[in-house]
Amino acid sequence: MNFIEIICPDCGKGAMVKIPNHLFKKGTLNAIKIHIESGICCNHRFLAFVSNKHKAIGYEKLDSVVLNKTRTQKHIFSLKTILDNFNNQIVLLFFRALLLSCPIIIVSEQDLSVEINEYNYFFNSLLPEKHLNPFLFSYYSRENLKENMNEISLILTDDLSIEQIPWASIPFDIEKQFFLEGFQIMDRDGQIYVMKVKISTLFDKVIYLIDSLNRIIEIERRYNRKIYKLDENQNDRIFYEDECDKIIIKKYGENITKLELDLIRLIALNRFHANIQRNDNNSKKVKKIKLPQKKIKNLFKKL
Ligand SMILES: [Zn+2]
Repeated sequence: MNFIEIICPDCGKGAMVKIPNHLFKKGTLNAIKIHIESGICCNHRFLAFVSNKHKAIGYEKLDSVVLNKTRTQKHIFSLKTILDNFNNQIVLLFFRALLLSCPIIIVSEQDLSVEINEYNYFFNSLLPEKHLNPFLFSYYSRENLKENMNEISLILTDDLSIEQIPWASIPFDIEKQFFLEGFQIMDRDGQIYVMKVKISTLFDKVIYLIDSLNRIIEIERRYNRKIYKLDENQNDRIFYEDECDKIIIKKYGENITKLELDLIRLIALNRFHANIQRNDNNSKKVKKIKLPQKKIKNLFKKL
């Protein structure tokens, strides 16, 4: 995946957008044309032309009307439509892949471009703005699958058999909650709103964890410098699961469930690439620096 800076030709708002490598065919000099849907960069939709050097070199406006409540909605897929096309279990897998930012690949010999567009639009509308992934869903023929898949993709076929699940298995209770809360609401926009709030709240916790881990790394680095100790392992600082859980519980209270802790860590690991490992009391691979208790207290006051 490449991140490419896209700037809206209408309002000038910019965003970093992930573009899959396979879109750039080797040996071609032509720019590729990418459809930027509303909600990806800003509220406008437009075409971006991206050079084979992975730079946006031009834009074309598609419509100059800002999406708002009065505009007729182009996208029509709701949870119900998606459930009609798949089944409960697969929709839960989609939610999990959405949270973890795992690419979802549907193997099909048919042209699914319209559906894929709708799935991407629907699931992206559930994410906080900063975390959009417009290429969450893609489809390939069996022949092209190999060169486009990787070990982090969720892969299923259009006759609904699941071929690869890339994450550590933990129950889907939280995704099920999101789904059920959304499903109780008939109105499509209301559905999206309710689920988006739920997911944003979960993401806030993940981001709090990530910020805390980064801050710990920074404080340890400073402390090391102070005592003239250079630690070459500093960049490989591993955090264990129970360390992470303590940080979250301290902030969000004891009544956070074990399952939610597991999911928060899984998102931190997969989506944000945090260096989190299983609790392993025998491992002496990483020397943890003992900070004075007072320092740790101060640290958490600041967070
Ligand atoms: Zn715009």
